[in-house]
Amino acid sequence: MSKLSPLVGSDYPFPPKPIVLSTQEKTDYKAKIKQLLIEKDAVLVAHYYTDPEIQALAEETGGYVADSLEMARFGRDHKAKTLIIAGVRFMGETAKILTPNKTVLMPELEATCSLDVGCPIESFSDFCDQHPDRTVVVYANTSAAVKARADWVVTSSIALEIVEHLDSEDKKIIWGPDRHLGSYIEKQTKADMIMWQGDCIVHDEFKAVALRDMKALYPDAAILVHPESPQSVVELADVVGSTSQLINAAKTLPNKQLIVATDTGIFYKMQQVCPDKEIFAAPTAGEGATCRSCAHCPWMAMNGLKAIYNALTDATGHEVDVDENVAKGALVSLDRMLDFAAEQQLKVKGNA
Ligand code: SF4
Repeated sequence: MSKLSPLVGSDYPFPPKPIVLSTQEKTDYKAKIKQLLIEKDAVLVAHYYTDPEIQALAEETGGYVADSLEMARFGRDHKAKTLIIAGVRFMGETAKILTPNKTVLMPELEATCSLDVGCPIESFSDFCDQHPDRTVVVYANTSAAVKARADWVVTSSIALEIVEHLDSEDKKIIWGPDRHLGSYIEKQTKADMIMWQGDCIVHDEFKAVALRDMKALYPDAAILVHPESPQSVVELADVVGSTSQLINAAKTLPNKQLIVATDTGIFYKMQQVCPDKEIFAAPTAGEGATCRSCAHCPWMAMNGLKAIYNALTDATGHEVDVDENVAKGALVSLDRMLDFAAEQQLKVKGNA
């Protein structure tokens, strides 16, 4: 397997912690945001990993909480002229690519993703050029430029099917950027894959030894794991799946206790769909822990009430713009996935 230098969490510049607001300030901002959403003909669309108060506000105001592709689809189909995308940069870009005629705003354009940052277009393109015989498949957590360089974009819930399909056509694959998700798919499909060595700083922190100890404390609990986690953690899972698949599993599993290895922001939705269950965060502590993310994405955490208010009052520095040619290229690889899903009658959900 050909590998580039692995990237580790400590290589990433972490954003500053969000400003903590008083209860009164929160109430005031929420009231102003509700009013501004109406005045500006805007809708708030939030990712499952944003803070619970942001997800609640999206729901209260007729917006939506979902994974990145469903966020983009909702925004495309909603009648509002302006979308406020509370998530990370690639989600705003995907929304803009699928909805070029709408204004797409983000509370923080600086909110990024370690998978996106760790896969710059120049070096990824060089990597692809070294293997011209391979089909380039990239995860949705990438820049528009990387999507445009790829042949296929995939989300975590359709990645297995698409790689299986490509393998059945004897295609050899370049996979990027998440090495853990790539290894999981390679193991499941036995496809010929070479990997870009990126990782998610949140999921990479889950620890198998500590998870085993936790399971011993709660023997009846089911373990739910997102496949961006290390293989040793995935091997302990009762269910491996995308955000939407994990929420669904939380609802349908008979277990009254759940240990969940993904961003704790997802607990808001899980608790909504199964209020009678106890949900525990999988451990990030233990031997080798750096715990810089502590199971909550620092970039998702940038989506605070003040930032949403700022975006709605002055779009300067908040509007997502994607170069027209790049957007055209990215749309080809995104559409390839959507067409495949439609043919297979699969629902494409579940990138981080
Ligand atoms: S949780 Fe991980 S994959 Fe999701 S946005 Fe944050 S760094 Fe990226």
